[in-house]
Formats: sequence, structure tokens, C-alpha cells
Amino acid sequence: GSTIGIIGGGQLGRMLAMSAARLGYRTVVLEPQVDCPAAQIANRQIVAAYDDPAALDELARESAVVTYEFENVPVVAAEHLAKTVSVFPPARALEAAQDRLLEKTFLNGIGISTARFMTVENDQDLAAALQAFDGSGILKTRRMGYDGKGQMVFRNMTTGGFDGACASLGNVPLILESFVPFEREISVIAARSTDGSIAAFDPAENVHGNGILASSTVPAAIHDATAEAAREAARKILAALDYVGVIGVEFFVLADGSLLANEMAPRVHNSGHWTEAACVVSQFEQHIRAVAGLPLGDANRHSDCVMENLIGDDIARVPALLAEPNVAVHLYGKAEARPGRKMGHFTRLLPSR
Ligand code: ATP
Ligand code: MG
Ligand code: MG
Repeated sequence: GSTIGIIGGGQLGRMLAMSAARLGYRTVVLEPQVDCPAAQIANRQIVAAYDDPAALDELARESAVVTYEFENVPVVAAEHLAKTVSVFPPARALEAAQDRLLEKTFLNGIGISTARFMTVENDQDLAAALQAFDGSGILKTRRMGYDGKGQMVFRNMTTGGFDGACASLGNVPLILESFVPFEREISVIAARSTDGSIAAFDPAENVHGNGILASSTVPAAIHDATAEAAREAARKILAALDYVGVIGVEFFVLADGSLLANEMAPRVHNSGHWTEAACVVSQFEQHIRAVAGLPLGDANRHSDCVMENLIGDDIARVPALLAEPNVAVHLYGKAEARPGRKMGHFTRLLPSR
């Protein structure tokens, strides 16, 4: 068949559906919310929960391959699907990326450094962990965090004052990470195909505002050796997971140019949106190519660029952006511009040096 199943109906699913259509595929989206961004583009929506067994069976029957646009697809759902249809990226990658403890343990296990970390279940654990990290660190929920949600920052807190921190994060399993004094943040978007070949886009330099990605600039202001180390780490992750599809890997760059991996997303990534304007094959098409068993596209860019997210009221910038040359605007079809909501993005191509 030539239908690609997509779990999740947000803007990433929407852009995957667009790229699939350009390559002649039909798409069916599994998403409980009607009129979601992806369903506006896909050929069909199955309106059901991500772990609804009947809906998953329906998705498997209709699809030649199933993929997903967010990392919190229940692992049991991916495993259930995989009994009757190819699921890419593999369930193993989902599992490793869903829990910050498993993620860091996996990364360290294949020789990729991260911030130091300790698990935290209660305020006593937190006190001990903060002690070990000289009073500074970032407390994060192990699962389900995104856009900086489910996090608390501690600076110089050796003498208490953190009672109730665990409760305020919902009394769920937590991890305290040592505070990384990074010089900048970068990410690598890379893909692995069914035949094991790998293509990596150049690292982007990312700036966050209120925990949400604000902009990605390519090239990043880093040395070639740092860029190559980031691409090499991504290749290692892809090979270790026998991965198929696009992955996004975030890194902290330290003053000496060395890297600590922050997290990985087993999907197309916000910091890779620039590829649609600055490369012949975008991260979305690259992902479709990979999961469909097609050859990967060239990951070289034809232009340097800056991608900025349009969040909430930023949507008011659209008329001015449309009037600019060398700006590609992409909106997600969301009706209501709530604060913190990603409404779209744009990529400004920079003059070549
Ligand atoms: P995303 O939306 O990228 O999935 P997230 O909610 O999973 O984000 P992280 O990427 O872990 O959160 O953290 C958000 C931001 O907080 C990072 O990009 C970085 O700026 C800062 N940060 C996170 N962990 C640390 C750390 N250990 N030391 C210093 N800064 C950190
Ligand atoms: Mg994350
Ligand atoms: Mg992140």
C-alpha cells in the first residue's frame, strides 16, 4: 500500500503529511482531537486515543508503515502496532527518549556525555542531590516534560528552602541534573534509512525564551570539530538504536568546545524547521523517505538562515514578514493564538558570505 500512518495530529504531523503528499503518499492520522493541524492536511483522521486498541488495529490495516510525531506515544501502542505493521522509529527509541533517566543512561552507555544526574523521589532525595551538585541544578520530571514544563531551577541552595518542590512538580519520579554552564545550545537533525545509511544536517544554534525554542540559526557559531562531534554523536545514537527515521539531538556547548548531550527526540524537531527553506530536502521529507524505505536526500543546505517560532501573539508579525524578501512563512492552521502556543514559524535566508 502507499499510505503512511501518523500517530499525533499537531504541527509536526501536519508537516509530515505535507511532505508525504508531495511524494505521492496518502496519510492517515490517529489523533483524538478533531480539526487538529495534521487532520487539515492528511487524507483521513482516526479520531481516537493513541492507545485505543481498535483504532491502532485500524491504523495498522490501512498503513504500509506507521510513524509518529511526538515522543509520548505509549510504548505498548507502538509494540502492539509492530506485530502487524512496520513502526518507525522503533519502539526501543521511544522507550529511551520518554524517560530522562533511561535517556541519560543510554547516552552515557554508548559513550556520549551528559550533565551529571541523580534520581529524586522526595524532598530528602532532593536535598542529598543538591548537596552533591554544590547547591545548583535543574529538577525535571522524568517523563512528559516539554517546552521547559515540569522543571525547577535551583541556584546555591545548600541550606534548604526547597521543601515542597517535589509536590509542586506533581510527586512524580524526578531527576536532578547538575547545572551546565553552557556557552550555547545546538541541535543536530539526522536521519537513518532502512538500509542503515545516515545523513545529518548541519547543527543549528538554538535560543530559548521562557523554556520554548525561540530561534535556530545555521550555521551555529562553533568550530568545525564541535559540529563534527555533534554529528558523530547523532550517528552513534542512530546506529545503537537500529533507528529508522529522523531524530533531533540537543547539546550544550561548553566554553572549551566540548559537548554534553541534553536530550533526544525520536521525531522531526522544531530546531529542524529551517531545512524546509534552506535545503532541497527538508527534515519532513527526509523522515518520510526514511520510513518509506526510499533513499535519503542530500542534507547540505543551499543557504545560511535563521528560523524563528511564531508563538501566541507573534502571529501579528505575519503581514510584515510576508512583505519581506527571502522569508518563508509557515503557519499551522490553529484558530486560537493562546500564550505559549506555537502558531507557525518563519525562516529568513541570509545572504551568502
Ligand atoms: P523541549 O521543548 O526541547 O523538549 P524540555 O522541556 O524537554 O524541552 P530541556 O530541553 O531538558 O526541556 O530543557 C529546556 C532548556 O532548559 C534547555 O534547552 C536549556 O536551555 C535549559 N536546561 C535544561 N537542562 C539544563 C541543565 N542541566 N543545565 C543548564 N540548563 C539547562
Ligand atoms: Mg524535551
Ligand atoms: Mg529540549
